[in-house]
Amino acid sequence: MEKQTQTQTETPDIPKWSALLVEAVNKPGLIMKAYSAFWNYSVGNQILALIQCQLRGIQPGPINTFPKWQTLGRVVKRGERALTLCMPLTRKRRDDEATDNDERPEEQTYTTFVHRARWFVVSQTYGSDLGPITIPEWDAEQALAALGIERIAFDKTDGNCQGFAKGKQIAINPLAQLPHKTLFHEIAHTLLHTSEGSFTDTEQTPRNIREVEAESVALLCCEALGLEGGDYARGYIQNWLFEPIGYNAEAIPEKSAQKIFRAADQILRAGRPTKERPAEYAN
Ligand SMILES: [Zn+2]
Repeated sequence: MEKQTQTQTETPDIPKWSALLVEAVNKPGLIMKAYSAFWNYSVGNQILALIQCQLRGIQPGPINTFPKWQTLGRVVKRGERALTLCMPLTRKRRDDEATDNDERPEEQTYTTFVHRARWFVVSQTYGSDLGPITIPEWDAEQALAALGIERIAFDKTDGNCQGFAKGKQIAINPLAQLPHKTLFHEIAHTLLHTSEGSFTDTEQTPRNIREVEAESVALLCCEALGLEGGDYARGYIQNWLFEPIGYNAEAIPEKSAQKIFRAADQILRAGRPTKERPAEYAN
C-alpha cells in the first residue's frame, strides 16, 4: 500500500522537460512511437516513458501501475523496476486563520507535480492476453469545440500568412501549405498566448519564444497523429535552436517546455472521442 504522507523525492536522474523536448525535436519518429504506445498518458509522460524504455532496453508498449495490471489479469515479473512518470498531486490546505470568525475554515486545494516510479510496461509483465491496441481517432472540429475556440474566415490578403489567432478565434489560410500544422500552431497560440494580452508583440525575443512554443506544439501534434507538417516544424525549431550561438539545447526554457507539453496534450485529448478519454492517473 502507498503511504498517505509522501515527501517529494529527489529525482536527479529524471531529465528536465526541456531536455525531453529537445530529444523529441531532434529524433524523427520518437513522438509517434511514444504516442502509439502510451497515447492515454500526457505527451510529456509519453516521451519520458519511451526514453526510459530505450535506456533500459525495454520494448515499449502499454503501461499501467502494479494494481492496474492485476485487474487486467497480468502480473509484474519479479525484479522488474518501475518506470517513473510525472503525476499531479492535489492536496488540501486548511486556512486556519478563518477559524476566529463565524465562517468555517476554508479548505483550499493545490496541485503539485511529482515524479513517482510506479508504472510497468506490458513486456515487464506476464498473464492474460491484452486485446489489440487501438489508437483513437482525432477530430479537429470536436477539438475546437471542446477547447472553446472558434474558426473564423481568413480575411488577410497577405499570401504568406498561413493563419492567425486572436482571442479564442483562429483563421487558417485556405491555401495554407500545411493546414494541419497551421491549425495546431494557431490553436497553441490561443491556448498559450492570446490571453496574455496583445499577441502582435513587437519585441523580438518574446515573440520568437512564442513562435517556437506554437511550432513545437504543432510538431508534437502532427507527429503524434502521423499528419504532414512535422518535418517542417522540426526544421523551424532546429534552426531556432542553432541560430543564436550555435546549437543550444538550453534555448528552450524549462517553463516553455512545460507549456508546450501541456498545450499539445490538451489539443490531442480534446479531439478524441469522449469515451476514449480514461483517467490517466487512476490507480
Ligand atoms: Zn505563430
